[in-house]
Amino acid sequence: MKSVIVLLGPPGSGKGTQGEMLSEKLGYVRLSTGDMLREAVRNGTELGKKAKTYMDSGALVPNDLIIGLMKEKIAQAEGGVILDGFPRTVEQADALDQQLQVDLALNLDVPDEELINRLTKRRSCPDCNAVYHLIYNPPKTESVCDKCGAKLYQRDDDKEETVANRLKVYRENTMPLIGYYEKKGVLVTIKGVGSIDDIYAQVEKAVQ
Ligand code: AMP
Repeated sequence: MKSVIVLLGPPGSGKGTQGEMLSEKLGYVRLSTGDMLREAVRNGTELGKKAKTYMDSGALVPNDLIIGLMKEKIAQAEGGVILDGFPRTVEQADALDQQLQVDLALNLDVPDEELINRLTKRRSCPDCNAVYHLIYNPPKTESVCDKCGAKLYQRDDDKEETVANRLKVYRENTMPLIGYYEKKGVLVTIKGVGSIDDIYAQVEKAVQ
Protein backbone atom coordinates (compact mmCIF):
# COMPACT_ATOMS: atom_id res chain seq x y z
CA MET A 1 0.00 0.00 0.00
CA LYS A 2 1.33 3.45 -0.96
CA SER A 3 1.86 5.62 2.06
CA VAL A 4 2.85 9.01 0.59
CA ILE A 5 0.33 10.05 -2.03
CA VAL A 6 0.44 13.32 -3.93
CA LEU A 7 -2.76 14.50 -5.61
CA LEU A 8 -2.00 16.35 -8.81
CA GLY A 9 -4.49 17.96 -11.13
CA PRO A 10 -5.86 21.41 -11.86
CA PRO A 11 -8.19 23.33 -9.54
CA GLY A 12 -11.61 21.72 -9.70
CA SER A 13 -10.31 18.30 -10.75
CA GLY A 14 -11.64 16.67 -7.58
CA LYS A 15 -8.48 16.47 -5.46
CA GLY A 16 -10.35 17.53 -2.33
CA THR A 17 -13.32 15.20 -2.83
CA GLN A 18 -11.29 12.15 -3.84
CA GLY A 19 -8.57 12.91 -1.28
CA GLU A 20 -11.13 13.05 1.51
CA MET A 21 -12.71 9.73 0.49
CA LEU A 22 -9.30 8.10 0.28
CA SER A 23 -8.21 9.52 3.60
CA GLU A 24 -11.32 8.08 5.30
CA LYS A 25 -10.81 4.69 3.69
CA LEU A 26 -7.06 4.37 4.39
CA GLY A 27 -6.95 6.27 7.66
CA TYR A 28 -4.27 8.55 6.20
CA VAL A 29 -3.93 12.19 7.10
CA ARG A 30 -5.02 14.51 4.28
CA LEU A 31 -3.00 17.69 4.20
CA SER A 32 -4.51 20.40 2.03
CA THR A 33 -2.46 23.56 1.64
CA GLY A 34 -5.53 25.42 0.35
CA ASP A 35 -7.57 24.51 3.47
CA MET A 36 -4.65 25.49 5.74
CA LEU A 37 -4.20 28.82 4.00
CA ARG A 38 -7.93 29.64 4.08
CA GLU A 39 -7.97 28.89 7.79
CA ALA A 40 -4.96 31.16 8.30
CA VAL A 41 -6.75 33.93 6.40
CA ARG A 42 -9.92 33.46 8.50
CA ASN A 43 -7.91 33.55 11.72
CA GLY A 44 -5.99 36.63 10.61
CA THR A 45 -2.57 35.05 11.30
CA GLU A 46 0.66 36.49 9.88
CA LEU A 47 0.67 33.75 7.24
CA GLY A 48 -2.96 34.48 6.39
CA LYS A 49 -2.28 38.18 5.97
CA LYS A 50 0.65 37.50 3.65
CA ALA A 51 -1.17 34.81 1.65
CA LYS A 52 -4.49 36.57 1.11
CA THR A 53 -3.58 38.86 -1.80
CA TYR A 54 -2.04 36.01 -3.77
CA MET A 55 -5.00 33.73 -3.14
CA ASP A 56 -7.57 36.36 -4.05
CA SER A 57 -6.02 36.83 -7.48
CA GLY A 58 -5.59 33.10 -8.09
CA ALA A 59 -1.78 33.37 -7.91
CA LEU A 60 0.40 30.95 -5.98
CA VAL A 61 1.54 31.89 -2.51
CA PRO A 62 5.38 32.19 -2.53
CA ASN A 63 7.28 28.92 -2.05
CA ASP A 64 9.05 30.10 1.10
CA LEU A 65 5.71 30.55 2.90
CA ILE A 66 4.43 27.12 1.89
CA ILE A 67 7.44 24.82 2.06
CA GLY A 68 8.26 25.39 5.73
CA LEU A 69 4.60 25.03 6.72
CA MET A 70 4.15 21.76 4.86
CA LYS A 71 7.44 20.28 6.06
CA GLU A 72 6.28 20.83 9.62
CA LYS A 73 2.81 19.32 9.03
CA ILE A 74 4.28 16.30 7.25
CA ALA A 75 6.78 15.74 10.05
CA GLN A 76 3.91 15.80 12.59
CA ALA A 77 1.71 13.36 10.66
CA GLU A 78 1.69 9.77 11.81
CA GLY A 79 1.20 6.99 9.26
CA GLY A 80 0.35 7.63 5.63
CA VAL A 81 -0.26 11.07 4.14
CA ILE A 82 -2.29 12.38 1.23
CA LEU A 83 -0.99 15.70 -0.04
CA ASP A 84 -3.71 17.79 -1.66
CA GLY A 85 -2.50 20.94 -3.42
CA PHE A 86 1.16 20.41 -2.58
CA PRO A 87 3.56 20.40 -4.31
CA ARG A 88 2.44 22.93 -6.90
CA THR A 89 5.84 23.98 -8.24
CA VAL A 90 9.03 22.11 -9.10
CA GLU A 91 10.78 23.90 -6.24
CA GLN A 92 8.16 22.56 -3.80
CA ALA A 93 8.48 19.06 -5.28
CA ASP A 94 12.27 19.17 -4.82
CA ALA A 95 11.83 20.27 -1.21
CA LEU A 96 9.37 17.42 -0.60
CA ASP A 97 11.80 14.96 -2.16
CA GLN A 98 14.43 15.95 0.35
CA GLN A 99 12.06 15.11 3.19
CA LEU A 100 10.52 11.82 2.01
CA GLN A 101 9.87 9.59 -0.94
CA VAL A 102 6.62 10.00 -2.85
CA ASP A 103 5.06 6.58 -3.53
CA LEU A 104 2.29 7.69 -5.84
CA ALA A 105 1.37 10.86 -7.73
CA LEU A 106 -2.26 10.68 -8.78
CA ASN A 107 -3.02 12.99 -11.64
CA LEU A 108 -6.71 13.78 -12.14
CA ASP A 109 -7.23 14.75 -15.76
CA VAL A 110 -10.27 16.97 -16.45
CA PRO A 111 -10.92 19.24 -19.48
CA ASP A 112 -10.92 23.01 -18.91
CA GLU A 113 -14.59 23.43 -19.80
CA GLU A 114 -15.60 21.00 -17.08
CA LEU A 115 -13.23 22.62 -14.56
CA ILE A 116 -14.79 26.03 -15.14
CA ASN A 117 -18.27 24.58 -14.68
CA ARG A 118 -17.27 22.80 -11.46
CA LEU A 119 -15.41 25.72 -9.91
CA THR A 120 -17.95 28.42 -10.62
CA LYS A 121 -20.79 26.26 -9.25
CA ARG A 122 -18.84 24.98 -6.27
CA ARG A 123 -19.95 25.80 -2.75
CA SER A 124 -17.67 25.19 0.23
CA CYS A 125 -18.06 24.71 3.95
CA PRO A 126 -15.99 27.19 5.97
CA ASP A 127 -15.96 24.92 9.02
CA CYS A 128 -15.29 21.36 7.84
CA ASN A 129 -14.05 22.15 4.29
CA ALA A 130 -16.58 19.85 2.61
CA VAL A 131 -17.34 20.83 -0.99
CA TYR A 132 -20.56 20.65 -3.02
CA HIS A 133 -21.63 21.39 -6.57
CA LEU A 134 -24.92 23.22 -7.10
CA ILE A 135 -26.07 20.68 -9.70
CA TYR A 136 -23.94 17.48 -9.51
CA ASN A 137 -23.60 17.20 -5.77
CA PRO A 138 -25.93 19.65 -4.00
CA PRO A 139 -26.31 19.69 -0.22
CA LYS A 140 -29.52 18.10 1.13
CA THR A 141 -30.71 21.49 2.39
CA GLU A 142 -29.89 24.51 0.26
CA SER A 143 -26.75 26.37 1.42
CA VAL A 144 -26.29 24.13 4.48
CA CYS A 145 -23.39 21.70 4.93
CA ASP A 146 -24.65 18.07 5.18
CA LYS A 147 -21.73 17.15 7.41
CA CYS A 148 -21.63 19.91 10.01
CA GLY A 149 -24.60 22.23 9.40
CA ALA A 150 -22.54 25.36 8.69
CA LYS A 151 -23.68 27.86 6.05
CA LEU A 152 -22.01 27.19 2.70
CA TYR A 153 -20.24 29.97 0.78
CA GLN A 154 -18.66 30.58 -2.59
CA ARG A 155 -14.89 31.00 -2.37
CA ASP A 156 -13.78 34.35 -3.80
CA ASP A 157 -11.32 32.55 -6.06
CA ASP A 158 -14.13 30.35 -7.46
CA LYS A 159 -15.71 33.41 -9.09
CA GLU A 160 -15.50 33.38 -12.85
CA GLU A 161 -12.97 36.20 -13.20
CA THR A 162 -10.38 34.45 -10.99
CA VAL A 163 -10.91 30.91 -12.27
CA ALA A 164 -9.29 31.65 -15.66
CA ASN A 165 -6.17 32.93 -13.93
CA ARG A 166 -5.98 29.88 -11.66
CA LEU A 167 -6.06 27.59 -14.69
CA LYS A 168 -3.28 29.62 -16.34
CA VAL A 169 -1.19 29.50 -13.15
CA TYR A 170 -1.77 25.74 -13.00
CA ARG A 171 -0.58 25.24 -16.58
CA GLU A 172 2.54 27.32 -16.09
CA ASN A 173 3.65 26.20 -12.65
CA THR A 174 2.08 22.89 -11.72
CA MET A 175 1.65 20.96 -14.98
CA PRO A 176 5.42 20.37 -15.23
CA LEU A 177 5.06 18.14 -12.16
CA ILE A 178 3.28 15.55 -14.32
CA GLY A 179 6.55 14.96 -16.20
CA TYR A 180 8.50 15.27 -12.96
CA TYR A 181 6.68 12.36 -11.31
CA GLU A 182 6.42 10.38 -14.52
CA LYS A 183 10.23 10.34 -14.70
CA LYS A 184 10.32 9.01 -11.16
CA GLY A 185 7.97 6.20 -12.19
CA VAL A 186 5.24 7.06 -9.66
CA LEU A 187 2.68 8.82 -11.85
CA VAL A 188 -0.81 7.42 -12.45
CA THR A 189 -3.23 9.49 -14.53
CA ILE A 190 -6.96 9.01 -14.03
CA LYS A 191 -9.72 10.53 -16.12
CA GLY A 192 -11.45 12.68 -13.54
CA VAL A 193 -14.76 12.87 -15.40
CA GLY A 194 -17.91 10.92 -14.54
CA SER A 195 -19.54 10.11 -11.23
CA ILE A 196 -17.61 10.71 -8.00
CA ASP A 197 -17.93 7.00 -7.16
CA ASP A 198 -16.68 5.80 -10.54
CA ILE A 199 -13.65 8.06 -10.31
CA TYR A 200 -13.03 6.91 -6.75
CA ALA A 201 -13.04 3.26 -7.88
CA GLN A 202 -10.09 4.08 -10.14
CA VAL A 203 -8.36 6.02 -7.38
CA GLU A 204 -8.63 3.02 -5.06
CA LYS A 205 -7.17 0.74 -7.71
CA ALA A 206 -4.20 3.05 -8.15
CA VAL A 207 -3.25 3.00 -4.47
CA GLN A 208 -3.17 -0.79 -4.15
P1 AMP B 1 -6.72 25.23 -3.44
O1 AMP B 1 -7.72 25.18 -2.36
O2 AMP B 1 -5.79 24.04 -3.45
O3 AMP B 1 -7.31 25.50 -4.80
O4 AMP B 1 -5.76 26.48 -3.12
C1 AMP B 1 -6.28 27.79 -3.04
C2 AMP B 1 -5.17 28.81 -3.19
O5 AMP B 1 -4.21 28.65 -2.14
C3 AMP B 1 -4.34 28.71 -4.46
O6 AMP B 1 -4.96 29.35 -5.57
C4 AMP B 1 -3.05 29.39 -4.04
O7 AMP B 1 -3.19 30.79 -4.00
C5 AMP B 1 -2.89 28.90 -2.62
N1 AMP B 1 -2.12 27.63 -2.55
C6 AMP B 1 -2.59 26.41 -2.20
N2 AMP B 1 -1.62 25.49 -2.24
C7 AMP B 1 -0.50 26.14 -2.64
C8 AMP B 1 0.85 25.74 -2.89
N3 AMP B 1 1.24 24.47 -2.74
N4 AMP B 1 1.73 26.69 -3.30
C9 AMP B 1 1.36 27.97 -3.45
N5 AMP B 1 0.12 28.42 -3.24
C10 AMP B 1 -0.82 27.52 -2.84
